[in-house]
This record gives sequence, structure tokens and C-alpha cells, in this order.
Amino acid sequence: MAYIEPAPIKDKENPLESMMERFHIAAEKLGLSEEIYNVLKNPAKQVIVSLPITMDNGKIKVFEGIRVIHSNILGPAKGGIRFAPDVHLDEVRALAAWMTWKCAVVDIPYGGGKGGVRCNPREMSAGEIERLVRAYTLAMIDVFGPDKDIPAPDMGTGPREMAWLMDEYSKAHGMTVNAVVTGKPLVLGGSLGRTEATGRGVMVTALAAMQKLKINPFQATCAVQGFGNVGSWASLLLEERGLKIVAISDISGAYYNADGINIQEAIAYRDSNKGTLENFKGAEKLADAMDLLELEVDVLVPAAVEDVITIANADRIKAKLIVEGANGPTSAKADAILNDKGIMAVPDILANAGGVTVSYFEWVQNRLGYKWTAERVNRRSDRIMKDAFDHVYEASIKYQVPLRIAAYIVAIDKVAKTYTYRGGF
Ligand code: GLU
Repeated sequence: MAYIEPAPIKDKENPLESMMERFHIAAEKLGLSEEIYNVLKNPAKQVIVSLPITMDNGKIKVFEGIRVIHSNILGPAKGGIRFAPDVHLDEVRALAAWMTWKCAVVDIPYGGGKGGVRCNPREMSAGEIERLVRAYTLAMIDVFGPDKDIPAPDMGTGPREMAWLMDEYSKAHGMTVNAVVTGKPLVLGGSLGRTEATGRGVMVTALAAMQKLKINPFQATCAVQGFGNVGSWASLLLEERGLKIVAISDISGAYYNADGINIQEAIAYRDSNKGTLENFKGAEKLADAMDLLELEVDVLVPAAVEDVITIANADRIKAKLIVEGANGPTSAKADAILNDKGIMAVPDILANAGGVTVSYFEWVQNRLGYKWTAERVNRRSDRIMKDAFDHVYEASIKYQVPLRIAAYIVAIDKVAKTYTYRGGF
């Protein structure tokens, strides 16, 4: 019998608690009133659906689908959909709130949302995934909308899934509604530059931080955890800017080469090898993939999953700078250890906001019925990311806090002020 499996209990810090701890510290520094604190603390809406899907073997399997809208104070909710075997409500709630703060940090007119479906896309056929995406979309038909809640890719989903989502939503409305989702294939109204956007933002904020730390990119070494969309693009673009990428990793393990890994080669290898770096010859495999995080490098880019830098390893991190490509890679308890060691961390809600920034451009282009050049997309997103970095850096000096708390302060302040103008009941 196939029951909906209960969410596994993680032997890690809860991402929601990690998010709330930072929110709390920033709110106190900012002197946020208790009333507004309570408004921003809770998600505005949480929807959980049950999705029965006929699998290829003819059997019906029931999946759980979640969508959380944390806030729509700044505008329609925005955020990706995660397909993963262990996704659970608390994680989606944290990720939704991070989207609120992220959109506010880069000053784009969106609230925050996130979706999750507990499934293992690696073990499903394209047909099964398509049926699941369509069922999820239909179940969320009143939640989604170009002026209400705009999904996008996240772990386990990409342009293909966004195309199915757009098609199902459009069919239900009897017209093409391409602005309901971002991260679409180019021919369906996707934006040039969207694929590399998150990695590009990681590169822009990394270079801005390196300038503050007086690290010369041409003499710097870098390790990147995760070689999916974000990690591979960040590696490639940082390599292009002069950094030597000495280590990369994915689910098959971590690969190290003191002379630098040729990232073009690694990407080509991954693409020809069913999406993994397994048996990659351009580097040596580390005995333990987690050792990548503890390498003696100038820059560390965690670009895989949440909760990888924790109290269990934070004191062994040797990088001078951490740039968070993933959402929530550092647990709240690890923050203090990194701060004591004088390690600068460009937080996720700033470092990986390039993706949602170009999602915003995609939505704008869809609504205009127009297409921008890659040059325009990149120029505008680079400027937004650099301005956001400078703004957060200034706040960190003004409030005498690390960049992470400064980013929360900038974000919470913006959302709180907007709420105060809009008013409640
Ligand atoms: N999933 C991405 C993120 O976490 C992109 C979200 C979006 O483009 O809406 O930022």
C-alpha cells in the first residue's frame, strides 16, 4: 500500500527556527514594534493539498503539495517550487519568508512565497513528473496568478516544469497567461539571462565583498559546494573573473585540484554524464564530500542545500569569505562562530537574489509583451545586486552588525514601512 509518507524528522537545526532567530535579532536592532513583529512573523497563507497521480505502472500514488505565502505586503508573492523527497512544511515556511526578505533586499515589488512537493524527481519518469506538475497547478489554481502568487523553479524543478505549469494554468483560464510563472523556456516567454542569473548574482556580490576585504580575485582560491544550476554558473563566472576554483561537489562527491578545476570541462562532463560529476577526471575525489567546506580557500560558496555550515563544523571553516548561493546553508547557531572567527558571510537573501531579480525582469517583459537583450538583463541585474550589496554593507556599519543581520534589517524595515502605509484592519 502507498500511503503519504510522514515528513522525516531531520537531525539538523530547523530552518524555520534559523530564519526566526535572525528575524528576531534584526527586529530588536531595528526597534520594530511588537504589533508589526507579529504581522511579519506569521505566513499570510498556507495551503496543503493531496495529489493522487497514476504512475507508469498503473498504480495510484498520493503526493503532498504545499504552497506557503509568507507575505504579499510589497506585492504578489514570489518564489520557487521545490521537488524533493524530504521537503516539509517548516522548510517551505522558512523558504517563503526568505523570499519576502530577499525581494525586499533587492527592492523588487514582490512578497514572498514558496512551494514544495514531497517526491523524488530522480526516480520518476518525465510523464509522471508532468502529471504531478499539472495536478499541483490545478490544485493551486486559485492561489497562483500573475498579480497574486508567481512561482518559479527551485531544487528539483526547472524550465520544463514551469512550461507545464504555465500551460495548465493557461488552459484553466482559457487564454495564455505567461506572467503566472517565471523561469520558463525562452520560447514561452522566458528571459535571456534567467538561467545564469542566480550564479551571476553570487559572482557580483562575491566580487563586491572581496573588494571590501581587499582580496585580489586574480590571486584568490574558491571552493563551491553544489554543481547544479547555481553552483556551476557561479563557478564559471567566478573563474572568468580570475578566481581559481579548486573544489566543486555534487551528490556524487567533492572534487579537488590545487591547480584549479577547468569549469567548462566540468560542466561538459556533467552534461554528458547524466547530470553528475561521478568519475570526473579533472580533479581528485575527497574522501568526505563535507571536507570541501573546510578547505583552506579565500572564498567558499555553499550552493547546494540548507544547513551545511552548523555548530558541528563552523569552527573548522578556513575561508575568509562565504557567499551563500543556496538558501539557508548556514544555521543560526553557526553565525556566532563565523563572526567570532572574523569570517564575512554574504547572506543568502542577498547573495542568491539574482535569480528572483531576473524572474522579476521576466515578468515585466511578459506583461509588456516585449523582449530585452541579454546585455540589458545582465546590466540591470548587476546594478541591482551591486546596489543591494552596498545598501546592506552601509546598514552593517550603521547598526554595527554582520552582513546577515544587516540584510534582514534592510528587508524588515522596508516591509514594515510599507505595511504601516497600507495599514491593516
Ligand atoms: N527559487 C529561487 C530562489 O530561491 C528563485 C525564485 C524566483 O525566481 O521566484 O530565489
